Amino acid sequence: MSELKKEEVLAYHKKGKIGIDLTKPCDTQHELSLAYTPGVAIPCLEIAKDENLSFEYTNRSNLVAVISDGTAVLGLGNIGPLASKPVMEGKSVLFKKFANVDAFDIELDVHTVDEIVTTCKAISPTFGGINLEDIKAPQCFEIEKKLQEVLDIPVFHDDQHGTAIITTAGLMNVLELTGKKVEEIKIVVNGAGAAGISCAKMYKRLGVKNIVMCDSRGVLSKERTDLNDYKAPFAIDTEAKTLDDAIENADMFLGLSVAGALSKEMVAKMAPEPIIFALANPVPEILPSEVMEARDDAIMGTGRSDYPNQINNVLGFPFIFRGALDVHAKKITEGMKMAAAKALATLAKEPVPDYVKTAYHNDSITYGKEHIIPLPFNKEALVWVASAVAKAAFEEGVARVEHYDHEQYKEQLRC
Ligand code: NAP
Ligand code: MG
Repeated sequence: MSELKKEEVLAYHKKGKIGIDLTKPCDTQHELSLAYTPGVAIPCLEIAKDENLSFEYTNRSNLVAVISDGTAVLGLGNIGPLASKPVMEGKSVLFKKFANVDAFDIELDVHTVDEIVTTCKAISPTFGGINLEDIKAPQCFEIEKKLQEVLDIPVFHDDQHGTAIITTAGLMNVLELTGKKVEEIKIVVNGAGAAGISCAKMYKRLGVKNIVMCDSRGVLSKERTDLNDYKAPFAIDTEAKTLDDAIENADMFLGLSVAGALSKEMVAKMAPEPIIFALANPVPEILPSEVMEARDDAIMGTGRSDYPNQINNVLGFPFIFRGALDVHAKKITEGMKMAAAKALATLAKEPVPDYVKTAYHNDSITYGKEHIIPLPFNKEALVWVASAVAKAAFEEGVARVEHYDHEQYKEQLRC
């Protein structure tokens, strides 16, 4: 925040950041009768006969609800639904800017699992997808699960899965760069909340066998009697009690906890060429400069744009929804998420376009330890990720569209 001036930020936010635009002309009496009564009755009756036509004759196939109850907003905590609105508007801005997906922010002044599920279900006919945002753990897990059971549109809690997809992409490339084997590495996940648990699940699906998780009370071990249903599956038989015990010989530290949780001494105890993703916002678990003081073979990523390897969720959610919406997907499957991660990992190895280098004032960005994931302004991310997600949806049978032409869709995304 230091380089931003409060007045500038507030001026930027005056009257909000997003509005509504028309996609069809409405300037004549004829166009008025097409847009509204009597013409509008015709698509209504078509949809009443076949609800799949709602994707054809309404804006549903390009419309996402960004839903929050304001209980876990950025690093700001439980600031409530109204104060969360600038963040949710911002999320909608990113949907539009990066993937041309229309999104409404909907802040809910209800907080129980059942109230949130009932409300989301009630408004679901309006939307082609639901992006849950900044809802606190463990409620967020249950809300997402229940909504996925009752709705036939994608429901995606970005704080969980966006982070998992992007860090998985980074992990895939680091494994390749260091020659380590996925089934042999040890990962310490510090933070067993929304993001940490989802990341650990995805790493398991990738083939990681050795994962040690820690929360604010230390290692999730079988001895612990205080673990909720979401933490318990990660409890392991171990003597390790603290992060300091667990970090010994770890190949990866994933921080989704709080500022300053990882020390230089802990970094020094990690395995050769360790990955350190310190993602606590706005101040990470450890700064890249401190890691460098401890050792020079680490591969570092943070949530911030002022350091290399930014783990920024904007690399995921706009494109994942773009792909899912374009095939009228009923859900976002594990296969679609893994396809998104692979697409990001592969794109990072491609030459970085000049406009991206210019945007970062860096001519020498190229695949390697300081560039393991694509940069947010790389326009190819839309093409690669959305098409990978759409293809996976089609192949897994969760797309409503009957035909899917991968190359043609990629071309369409490029235009
Ligand atoms: P969350 O659901 O509130 O979970 C936070 C977790 O951190 C909890 O499990 C908590 O333990 C644990 N924790 C707190 N203090 C700790 C400590 N000293 N040592 C170890 N664990 C500790 O939050 P979240 O949504 O997962 O996000 C966590 C952090 O990651 C936030 O700062 C968020 O902004 C950041 N984040 C960054 C990105 C990104 O950069 N792309 C993406 C997602 C999240 P208890 O369970 O015991 O309370
Ligand atoms: Mg969030």
